[in-house]
Amino acid sequence: MIPYGRQDITQDDIDSVINVLTSDFLTQGPVVPLFEQSVAKHVGAKHALAVNSATSALHIACLALGLDKGDWLWTSPVTFVASANCGLYCGANVDFVDIDPCTYNLCPKALEVKLEQAEQEGRLPKVVVAVHLCGQPCEMQPIHDLSQRYGFRIIEDASHAIGGKYQGEYIGNGRYSDITVFSFHPVKIITTAEGGMALTNDEKLARHMDLLRSHGVTRDPALMTREADGPWYYQQVDLGFNYRMTELQGALGLSQLSRLDDYVARRNALAECYDVALAKLPVITPSQHPDSYSGRHLYVIRLKCDEIRLTHRQVFEALREQGIGVNLHYIPVHTQPYYEQLGFCEGDFPEAERYYAEAISLPLYPAMNEGQQEQVVSVLQAILEQV
Ligand SMILES: *Cc1c(COP(=O)(O)O)cnc(C)c1O
Repeated sequence: MIPYGRQDITQDDIDSVINVLTSDFLTQGPVVPLFEQSVAKHVGAKHALAVNSATSALHIACLALGLDKGDWLWTSPVTFVASANCGLYCGANVDFVDIDPCTYNLCPKALEVKLEQAEQEGRLPKVVVAVHLCGQPCEMQPIHDLSQRYGFRIIEDASHAIGGKYQGEYIGNGRYSDITVFSFHPVKIITTAEGGMALTNDEKLARHMDLLRSHGVTRDPALMTREADGPWYYQQVDLGFNYRMTELQGALGLSQLSRLDDYVARRNALAECYDVALAKLPVITPSQHPDSYSGRHLYVIRLKCDEIRLTHRQVFEALREQGIGVNLHYIPVHTQPYYEQLGFCEGDFPEAERYYAEAISLPLYPAMNEGQQEQVVSVLQAILEQV
């Protein structure tokens, strides 16, 4: 089976991890801070906090922005459930903004319309999570303009997008958002096995997230309510979690980071080959906004179902049967049973649902070779031309 995504592990990665195993620290040592500083420097952010997953990063990002019971968090329905769940963790309400039918990202125009209505109803969001689906950045400038007008904060869920650029600058530099989150799950662009990171230019947010990722406990006298009892002393000043990244993960991440730009370039080259090879088939290839240099985590095609004899599901199953490990990103979150029970129903976000009825993620990963890509194209072509 040609997988839809796969990590790339080199001998350097292995050596880096082994070095940590025989060092003094398996966790809370010098490597994670080095990884954080390296990512922050690469993307142009002031602060970076490594954690054990992007889900954890989204959680502490929401808490640091003050998201609380009675508040609203808005995001795209076409995302992994974690982009929305972080709001529920904080006791907030979650709502969605339908996608742009070209980029499949949260649509700034739909956002504007929904904000106007929410203002009248007195339920404006406190946080909007902008998800860079497939690695293509959302239209951050118009979303940021709306945040100034309506007073919400912005988290970029850039789980798919490390190494990509918006308006020529690295995603994660925080020009149009408060906090950016990366994921280092093995299918993503660089990996630490499990892992994530929250980046910000705001020192207060950084300090708060630092506390929250480690029990709300501090050894910094400046953050304590009174003088230390002695050199052993620490204080818990907030309710935090154990969301820390280990040194093993940090070492793997640091080693992978050195190949980030090559990975993204390779992913873009493969995506452009797909664009050409699929141009004559009854599918829609991913359209790219002129402001976007995508991380290309995923290559999603949409079937022109009225030009194909098979159904979407039949095409998907035929690909799997013939060794093409396709996937579907994502089932619209509002149609998940947990969200339906919160009051959402099918029909609420029609563009997202139309997308779901047609989308298929084709295999794409840096180590994919020409032969494998040709195989994906020829199998897909044969299936779509069945009469
Ligand atoms: C993978 C992913 C997450 C969660 O990442 P983890 O590191 O697995 O917690 C969140 N949002 C999006 C869009 C993702 O793709």
